[in-house]
Amino acid sequence: MLGLMQDWPLLLHRIIDHAAIQHGTREVVSRAVEDGTLRRRSYREIRSRALRVAKRLDREGIGLGDRVATLAWNSDRHLELWYGISGIGAITHTVNPRLFPEQIAGIVSHAEDRLMFLDLTFVPMIEAIQEKLPSVARYVVLTDAAHMPQTRLRGAVAYEDWLTEADDDFTWRAFDENTAAGLCYTSGTTGGPKGVLYSHRSNVLHALACAAPDYMGLSARDTVMPVVPLFHANSWSLAYSAPMTGAKLVMPGAKLDGPSLHELLEGEGVTMTAAVPTVWLGLLQHLEATKGELSTLKRVVIGGSACPRAMTETFERKYGVTVAHAWGMTEMSPLGSFCSVKPVYEQLSGDALYDLKVKQGHPPFTVEFRLTDDAGRDLPWDGKTFGRLKVRGPAVAGAYYRHDEKILDDQGFFDTGDVATIDPAGYMQVTDRSKDVIKSGGEWISSIDLENLAVGHPDVAEAAVIGVAHPKWDERPLLVIVPKPGRAPSKEEMLAFMTGKIAKWWLPDDVVLVEAIPHTATGKIQKTRLREMFKDYRLPG
Ligand code: AMP
Repeated sequence: MLGLMQDWPLLLHRIIDHAAIQHGTREVVSRAVEDGTLRRRSYREIRSRALRVAKRLDREGIGLGDRVATLAWNSDRHLELWYGISGIGAITHTVNPRLFPEQIAGIVSHAEDRLMFLDLTFVPMIEAIQEKLPSVARYVVLTDAAHMPQTRLRGAVAYEDWLTEADDDFTWRAFDENTAAGLCYTSGTTGGPKGVLYSHRSNVLHALACAAPDYMGLSARDTVMPVVPLFHANSWSLAYSAPMTGAKLVMPGAKLDGPSLHELLEGEGVTMTAAVPTVWLGLLQHLEATKGELSTLKRVVIGGSACPRAMTETFERKYGVTVAHAWGMTEMSPLGSFCSVKPVYEQLSGDALYDLKVKQGHPPFTVEFRLTDDAGRDLPWDGKTFGRLKVRGPAVAGAYYRHDEKILDDQGFFDTGDVATIDPAGYMQVTDRSKDVIKSGGEWISSIDLENLAVGHPDVAEAAVIGVAHPKWDERPLLVIVPKPGRAPSKEEMLAFMTGKIAKWWLPDDVVLVEAIPHTATGKIQKTRLREMFKDYRLPG
């Protein structure tokens, strides 16, 4: 027997409708890419403009299932595009501008995007490769007539001019909730980029799960600044979960440096923000140098790569801001787990609490975990045994876009490629990417643990650990460090600092200082590139 409740499909435009009706005057503040000034709109205006986008796209001949690319920073325009594109059943393909031009050409062609909306910043890059983008019939530059550059881009038009040709007298299209809404290619840390195709249903469920108190914990009284880009896996849900709850949004545009972010945090009264650790490194360095404060910020969500313990301690002890360590992946929409405190750990304080916060945490409802060995046998959740972390849920990929590869095991779980432990309370801790773990004498050393420890040294700005070939042990750890300005910690100092905090055989065999560590397009340490840089390196002795 079926239930007798209403058929109300989970469609994304219902979110912006709700925001406009219930939180219509709440602001979306954006830093303009043109000149860095702040632009203020309300959710009511964002919805009206999204409807105009939808109507204008419809007139352009874009419809159900068509792919539309955006190459853009976080802004009000990018937000209204998202709702406008998916509101007619078309698919927003968020292109990561930090990919190499060749990779961009590859994914845009693979997706067969028909239109591209791009920020001024990216006009020269796309001009240089537009011959390799035959599917794109037209380019819309996210600016007004006054700032529109001379450009050779096919059919180029300024967004504000393009939008003037439609009013908001439009009704969202009706379609099944499983209709595709967004396309995001993985950053290709391993292998080439692969497309993850989100649906309306998966994104709505993901946003609901994220907004809950033990996860993003959003409310109408929050002011949320997603520093994590809309092109990095749904901006970790915030472009949906913030309007869903009525939180004010602050969009930082192209300026993601410490001083610019600090100005927005303080000036707009931000209470919650989210980004990868490298972004926060820039903010913390700025605060240290200027003796700045964080007077309104309550929570910072840190994920995308492991959040070093030292970073958590600085935010919490020095600035009184609670850190929530989060883990996820493009294939998971992306949220997989969040490290909030369950009652079993309520009594923890001081160092013991920071030990807990180093973990990636527990999954929300809609994400199931499995831990297995290489043969697919389940492993115990004892907080010690590590194995392959597998996931299942309604916002987890079941296949890649236009790819035949089978990606689920016989129980429908997706192998994340991460090696992890899970404790009896359900807290997961990532030991490493399976490709990055260091195999020494048949045992495993976690590069993440060593990195976390090394950045706790007062002279270290950033640290990365890779395995290098060793004739006896197979691989041994090499610690690569970017020192803080004017500092140069020696190998002996570093090893002395680490001794006693880890098993003796985990101590790196050597320490090398470098000016910079390479990062991927989503701000993760690029281990493949780092291994390449040190391919001729020989360990001492
Ligand atoms: P991406 O899909 O590009 O966001 O990459 C997902 C991968 O990033 C995961 O499989 C992890 O290896 C890594 N990752 C994400 N968040 C964390 C975290 N908090 N700690 C450690 N690794 C993380």
